[in-house]
Amino acid sequence: MSSIAGKGEALDKGKVLGKGQALDKGKVLDKGKVMGKAEALDKGIVLGKGQALDKGKALDKGKVMGKAEALDKGKAMGKAEAMDKGKVLGEGKAIGKAKVLDKKEVAEVVERLGELYGDEGTALTHGSVFELLVAVVLSAQTTDVAVNKVTPGLFSRWPDAASLAAADPDEVAGAIRAIGLYRTKAMNLVRLSGMLVEKYNGEVPGDFDALTGLPGVGRKTANVVLAFGFGEERMPVDTHVFRVANRIGLCAEATPEKTEAALVARMPEGRLSASHHYLIFHGRRACHARKPECAGCVIEDLCLYPGKPAAG
Ligand code: SF4
Repeated sequence: MSSIAGKGEALDKGKVLGKGQALDKGKVLDKGKVMGKAEALDKGIVLGKGQALDKGKALDKGKVMGKAEALDKGKAMGKAEAMDKGKVLGEGKAIGKAKVLDKKEVAEVVERLGELYGDEGTALTHGSVFELLVAVVLSAQTTDVAVNKVTPGLFSRWPDAASLAAADPDEVAGAIRAIGLYRTKAMNLVRLSGMLVEKYNGEVPGDFDALTGLPGVGRKTANVVLAFGFGEERMPVDTHVFRVANRIGLCAEATPEKTEAALVARMPEGRLSASHHYLIFHGRRACHARKPECAGCVIEDLCLYPGKPAAG
């Protein structure tokens, strides 16, 4: 039975309603469920198949999104972002089959950024793989500069896993209190060191799963240790890599993990770990989160970021 709808409401499946109203597979939505102006998009709500947005914000007035147009599960459109198929959106968001640079262009981006930034390596001061692991754990939500200020004192007092495993967490916290989350990090370092002693003879394992099984060690940390402690080709994705890679169009992914997989597949062979640094440097020095310095950017002609001034 069809419901009788009020002003501007839809009756049947697929029928599109007036301004500001949306359908859900043929049901007439209650007034309270109708999405208001840009609500669905701005609040990051992901729309399902056949749902319509209001007021032509993303879709033209009255259009219902088909299967191919619907957003991938888990992805959401941000404010003022376009829905054209193939358009790469800002801040790592992408819709469906977003456009990305081809492999030749990706290689050119890496080439130019490599020329600009060189192969400086990690900025975290360390003298062993253990020290690198500790430094990377400490670097979460903290600058490398801040970490480099506390690690000399930390390493001189507790130079290896055995000594740090036996340390009093409060004393370790006192030694690193200048950096963020120092209590949690101190606890993780003592537990992590204990696990290294128990399971790995006090050595840092060169294995992704073993590393991510350690307290305080996530995917990014494990990849940094494998890349710069063990010489593996890895792509650790931090906030800069995630933002910059998706802006440029090296990939078009909605999560750091998917970004990592896409970059591993698309970056030139043998340049993965180095590219990680290029993207970090570019994110810190030019492609800032809020106001990227597109004028004068060495890859401006290749970059697909729709927000760059030259695109406007
Ligand atoms: S052109 Fe702008 S958005 Fe693109 S990489 Fe350069 S600074 Fe970043």
